[in-house]
Amino acid sequence: MVKPPFSQEEFLDTYGPTLHYAPPGGFSSVEDYDALVDTHCCFCGQQCGIKLKVKNNAIVGFEPRYDFPFNKGKLCPKGIKRYLQGSHPDRLLHPMRRTEHGYQQITWDEALSETVTKIQEIQAKYGRNSFAMLSGVSLTNEKSYLVGKFARLALQTANLDYNGRLCMVSAGAGNKKAYGIDRASNHWEDITEAKVIFIIGTNIAECFPITTDYIWRARDKGAKIIYADPRMVPMARTADLYLPLRCGSDSALLMSMLHVIIRDGLTDEAFIEAHTTGFGDVRAAVADATPKWAAEITGVPAAKIEQAARWYGEAETGMILHARGLEHQVKGVENVMSCANLALATGKIGKPGCGHSTITGQGNGQGGREHGHKCDQLPGNRDITNPEHRKYICEVWGITDEELPGKGITAQEILNEIHEGKIKGLLSICFNPLVSLPDANFNREALNKLEHYSVIDFFLSETAQHADIVLPGSLQEEDEGTTTSGEGRVIKINAPVTPPGEARRDWEILLDIAGRLGRGKYFQFNNTQEIFNELRLASRGGTADYSGITWEKIVDTQGIFWPCPQTTDEGKVTMHSEHLDDRHPGTPRLYEGGKFYHPDGKAHFNAVNWRESAEVVDDEYPIWFTTGRVVSQYLSGSQTRRIGPLVDQFPHPKLELHPRMAKQLKIKTDDWVTIQTRRGEVIIQANVVNTIRPDTVFMAYHWGGKQSANLLTQRALDPISKIPEYKVSACRVRLASPEEQAEGERTQFLSSRTEKNLPAGYNLAERRKELRR
Ligand code: SF4
Repeated sequence: MVKPPFSQEEFLDTYGPTLHYAPPGGFSSVEDYDALVDTHCCFCGQQCGIKLKVKNNAIVGFEPRYDFPFNKGKLCPKGIKRYLQGSHPDRLLHPMRRTEHGYQQITWDEALSETVTKIQEIQAKYGRNSFAMLSGVSLTNEKSYLVGKFARLALQTANLDYNGRLCMVSAGAGNKKAYGIDRASNHWEDITEAKVIFIIGTNIAECFPITTDYIWRARDKGAKIIYADPRMVPMARTADLYLPLRCGSDSALLMSMLHVIIRDGLTDEAFIEAHTTGFGDVRAAVADATPKWAAEITGVPAAKIEQAARWYGEAETGMILHARGLEHQVKGVENVMSCANLALATGKIGKPGCGHSTITGQGNGQGGREHGHKCDQLPGNRDITNPEHRKYICEVWGITDEELPGKGITAQEILNEIHEGKIKGLLSICFNPLVSLPDANFNREALNKLEHYSVIDFFLSETAQHADIVLPGSLQEEDEGTTTSGEGRVIKINAPVTPPGEARRDWEILLDIAGRLGRGKYFQFNNTQEIFNELRLASRGGTADYSGITWEKIVDTQGIFWPCPQTTDEGKVTMHSEHLDDRHPGTPRLYEGGKFYHPDGKAHFNAVNWRESAEVVDDEYPIWFTTGRVVSQYLSGSQTRRIGPLVDQFPHPKLELHPRMAKQLKIKTDDWVTIQTRRGEVIIQANVVNTIRPDTVFMAYHWGGKQSANLLTQRALDPISKIPEYKVSACRVRLASPEEQAEGERTQFLSSRTEKNLPAGYNLAERRKELRR
């Protein structure tokens, strides 16, 4: 593969990020529109209802959607400004081939032919699994299902994985081990009925802003809020009890809380006896986990651990909520299982105000993780290694078992194998691993080793800049389909506009490649509703059963919670059942009546023993380093770093550190600092805050290049979920030298390059035209 052909400045001038501030026609167009279309915000797993204003096949504005029951008109800054993605100057409008001189516009026929030829050449030379696919979980359910089928039947590779691997997989694996199903336990309305809400490892106010409303409604009715996090994040500042645990110590805290609950007789023995297995092992595992023991590991005073355990254990109802802070660890699955152990031991599950939920982060983080998008999974959340599950999907797809590839490797493992030279070719869609995977320097080296890389995306992300062939795909508002919100509610995404220029809908591109690979007979879809209807059949009988959901039913009811099976008067539904009906109303609350989804119908306790993180502080790297999000940016920032008002709100990453550490290191707010780990270094400005532990520093991860937090993080993986340990690393920090500061300032200037800060007389539009020729 050739190295990126442009200088950094040329890339930025040509493909952005350009900061976009106004819709086509300026703001005067906002009140002059042709249509107002109901759909949903795509910038987090909450999937708030929103209306988009359309004029001349372009999005010109938005209106809140008061009729959608989840957000009832409320939106966060990302939802308000997301419409500025439409008609964006950085949008990819034509297929392109990378040459030594830059990107060259080519025809669709040339782009697809070259992609297909390279797939065939690489697979003929090195074997089918030498060509891998990486996908994004902001795709609709239809596209997620299609990608799973495309990788297995068109590319015929086992090596497909998705960026949900960096997000919710620890929760998914922990949920399945405890409850036999992977979904939030309750619809969010149940949160308002809780008497205690225990929140651990999630910055709710910034990452899931609308959930704040549900928690505050519970608080207005008297609920106590317990908040555990190394940072006193905005919502933790309003909590009744704040537990400032050291990053990576979550399971010690949770084990100790269960120890207190058992010691003080706060368990629900009748529930444990009737509806669970394995409590004896868990009881033994926490026998020595005293608050004093946990205080030494977590840094949280023993009295506070006792208080948290008693408040949660004694309350009539209680909810546990967590997100990536708890899950982005080599102990992510253990941490989730430890939360489940608390909920099960106290019987606080399956009732209003009682539950245990992860807060899904990515746009379709819930639906995208259910229908075969993962290397080990088939549709309906089936297991690709289970003979019965394989048999069912083979029948739906009309293939033999020999034709269905086996279990592949996970996202970071795919990059590892590219680096090792085992995987030679890659097709990716809506995934920016160069910013979002850990140890960015390693992953850049890997991408440069590929023999061929084709990308489907709508902006030229940091990763896409390494592609040989660029296939311009579609934005959310340019395609119809469904997504599933973090609550488990399947909702309808509408398509008020069509893709601009020569860009095409993602599913049409995949169908075209499949046809050219001679596999078109498996992909006879005329529209996305036909894909959804095949997904319904493929999910039937799986734990994530969508078979009783129709698009019409979704629109009539404002969303259906899965599981929603088809029903029949004859009893059990099979693939060949007739007279099926779609009467099932969906399942807003799981586990009612103590019914769980394991074959024995019970919930399973899972014993967890304390162990340390993959990397701990030492004399050389004495400071804990952790990462997270800010309210105005989304994931790798490929979309939100192009929306002017969101960048204005948080233009650059800063290093948060406590005043005590700042004093010791002689650092003040806005000083330039150098952060170093065993993987790399970053030069950014400091932000001295009281709201972080004195032994820990924090950096947001939405930026690429030299501002990337993932230059510093490590590739250590949870052994079960294979999620990377983003939340725990060891680092050192010092004031930057004058040379380093100059480099940091230049990086900062380039990363928000726009007409506002270019030299006088520099015509960016003309320069872009010239470079894109
Ligand atoms: S909370 Fe999430 S879905 Fe709602 S407006 Fe904000 S980013 Fe969009």
